[in-house]
Amino acid sequence: MIGVLGGGQLGAMFTTAARRLGYRVAVWDPDPDAPALKLADLPLAAPFTDQASLDSFSTAIATATYEWENIPAATVQALERRVPVRPAARILTTIQNRLEQKRFLAGHKIPVAPFQAATSPEHVTVPDAVGFPALCKTATLGYDGKGQVRLTGPDDVRALVQELRAQKQPQGRWIIERFLPFKKELSVLVVRGADGDCRCYPVVENVHEAGILRTTRVPAAIDEATAQRATALAASVIDKLDGVGVFCVELFLMNDGGFFVNEVAPRPHNSGHYTLDACPVSQFEQQVRAVCGLPLGEVTLASPAVMVNLIGEDFTKATTDAEIKKFLSKSGAKLHVYGKKSVRPGRKMGHVTFLADSADEAWASATSLKRLLG
Ligand code: ATP
Ligand code: MG
Repeated sequence: MIGVLGGGQLGAMFTTAARRLGYRVAVWDPDPDAPALKLADLPLAAPFTDQASLDSFSTAIATATYEWENIPAATVQALERRVPVRPAARILTTIQNRLEQKRFLAGHKIPVAPFQAATSPEHVTVPDAVGFPALCKTATLGYDGKGQVRLTGPDDVRALVQELRAQKQPQGRWIIERFLPFKKELSVLVVRGADGDCRCYPVVENVHEAGILRTTRVPAAIDEATAQRATALAASVIDKLDGVGVFCVELFLMNDGGFFVNEVAPRPHNSGHYTLDACPVSQFEQQVRAVCGLPLGEVTLASPAVMVNLIGEDFTKATTDAEIKKFLSKSGAKLHVYGKKSVRPGRKMGHVTFLADSADEAWASATSLKRLLG
């Protein structure tokens, strides 16, 4: 039995992949409605701080992983004293704090946006070395662009400081980083085994809307040399982390052809969902393989693809609107629904993957879907 901390859609897709390979899965999530709990052999709905749950979870499993980086580090460390955890707890603690993560990357000469730490609202400033426009991000617990504020000038800084003071967050920590006028956002899924075998899926191109991933295109519309440089950079990041598992390295491609690493996810990633439909081995099967010490699977692309996230009300429309349902029944479209109990604005409810002979063709279908969704 494999244990997975976190029971959202990523945990659910991991559970499905693990069960297909004959494993049993224990899922631990504080929310009793978490989608993966329904699929688990051993569902555990309890706070991550609950000691009795830690005991029963760790006794039941042979190895563990997690589906997102905001699992309390103390829980993962305690678990790691009892069973192997992959990626290791030290990687989770580095990655889950944006400051620690950026320091790690910068310390290993990986290009990142100039940044500065702030440990109190008064320390929220934009030094010349960072410069405007800048972004202020909470050091921990952010996702889908949550906890991020754009700062275009000193007025924005003053307003933010006032707001943070009013929120009474004296213990908060923030990272202030330069807003990079990137040409494209790319990401690379890196799979690395305990023996150091390291494989990268093709470079994908991502489009975000309001800080949330909306569309992923694979292969990215970039030249071969750029793709090779992106892949080499991503692999070197995971090598430096000495990571075992599935990782996603998010990159900014600049107009001069240079790269910055935005961030690293120590788990399968939304921009890798296309692997479920367009690759012989999905990112979730790779996670099972890496976590269980099996040989890794191939990372080849069987078909160009474009994925569109169904966010909030998109989901209601996609599953009720007659025109959209008809559109989704055309060949090449594959609908995934996460089974979340309630629809909320900004919540990822499902996604659609379009397969086609070319990424441009899949892109055209994705554009039509987005138009129909409004
Ligand atoms: P996710 O959960 O989607 O990975 P997140 O909350 O972890 O998001 P980031 O990845 O740091 O946050 O930021 C979300 C998006 O905001 C990025 O994908 C990018 O589009 C934009 N962004 C973040 N940092 C920068 C930056 N320094 N310059 C320009 N754009 C940025
Ligand atoms: Mg991100």
